[in-house]
Amino acid sequence: MRVSVFGATGSIGESTFDLLTRRDDIETVVLTGGRNVTRLAEQARALRAGLAVTAHDDCYRALKDALAGSGVEVAAGTQALVDAAERPTDWVMSAIVGAAGLAPGFRALAQGATLALANKESLVTAGPLLMAEAARHGARILPVDSEHSAVFQALAGEDIAAVERVIITASGGPFRNWTRDQLEQATLAQAQTHPNWSMGQRITIDSASLFNKALELIETREYFGFDPDQIEAVVHPQSIVHALVGFRDGALMAHLGAPDMRHAIGYALNWPDRAALPVARLDLAQLGTLHFEPPDPERFPALRLAREVMEIRGHAGAAFNAAKEVALDAFIDGRLRFADMARLVERTIDHLSAQSCLADPVVALETVEAMDHMARDRARSLAAGMA
Ligand code: NAD
Ligand code: MG
Repeated sequence: MRVSVFGATGSIGESTFDLLTRRDDIETVVLTGGRNVTRLAEQARALRAGLAVTAHDDCYRALKDALAGSGVEVAAGTQALVDAAERPTDWVMSAIVGAAGLAPGFRALAQGATLALANKESLVTAGPLLMAEAARHGARILPVDSEHSAVFQALAGEDIAAVERVIITASGGPFRNWTRDQLEQATLAQAQTHPNWSMGQRITIDSASLFNKALELIETREYFGFDPDQIEAVVHPQSIVHALVGFRDGALMAHLGAPDMRHAIGYALNWPDRAALPVARLDLAQLGTLHFEPPDPERFPALRLAREVMEIRGHAGAAFNAAKEVALDAFIDGRLRFADMARLVERTIDHLSAQSCLADPVVALETVEAMDHMARDRARSLAAGMA
């Protein structure tokens, strides 16, 4: 099988790399990364990749030098990265973080490749477009977000019309029991420490603010097509149950597993087969109990905002994600306080919905990108006023 990995040097990328190195039936077509060219070159050599691409033009020389004599082709820049998705392949891991992951995934679908989608932002910003593109080219999108992989697995062989509701779990993050006042004071160091999962910095902070769960509610709606009122989130601090699907006969099918992304990645890699995976096995008797509690949209407004976005639909997801990315950058840079991230996103959405363009249905990638830019501009100027 031919595979390409976009965002190979990240957290999901490394877990994918780990699984690929354990196989001897894989031909690696493309690996991409950012500024970490040393690691990208190591991966490209280990997998004998056809092409390695860094997203940054100024990293070309360093990547070229690191791959001298390896036979791996080298390219750099945003355009080269997107073009690399046209290299003939069978399976593409979409593991770039943020809206930048959308374009390569789109191109991969156009060649009919299976898209293993970790980049939830693709569905949040352009869900209807992405699903239509897959259908048009007879390509398949397989969810890699753990909750969505869990829902997908719980639905296997079931009649989707018999589904009553879907419940995705949230760990609650490091601030699960914090008061509103404490949340105002949360620091970067505190926000980037996740109790259960080891992930990239951005999704880790999004997990602390529950923006990650907000994105995932929208992702659930866009990928599976359920109505917003069929989709729930429940806090489950142990991260053992990843999602549950409720059917009209009252049955709940739950997916359980250790918090290790190699399960969801491996499931997508081997689908429709189930192959052995190097993940820890659960000992239920040792676990003893599974704990659940309701999420609190008062302390974590991201959940409430996700409901608004699902109601408006159209370009609201693109605006929501772009404003969230700006807010996150500002928090990481120390220009915005933790609780102000949600305020900034809400103000951006309010401003754009007053201009009424938010609800226009998504028909082209260009309008999604235009909304992304508009929301970033608005969020940046609002952020400057809040700092
Ligand atoms: P990460 O920050 O660890 O890695 C991101 C990768 O994308 C790196 O290879 C980086 O070089 C590259 N990249 C970053 N910005 C880029 C840009 N503008 N252009 C091109 N390449 C760029 O992120 P991650 O935690 O692996 O997450 C990747 C995606 O998977 C995100 O969408 C995230 O929400 C999703 N996801 C991650 C996890 C997890 O456990 N880490 C779980 C579920 C979903
Ligand atoms: Mg998830």
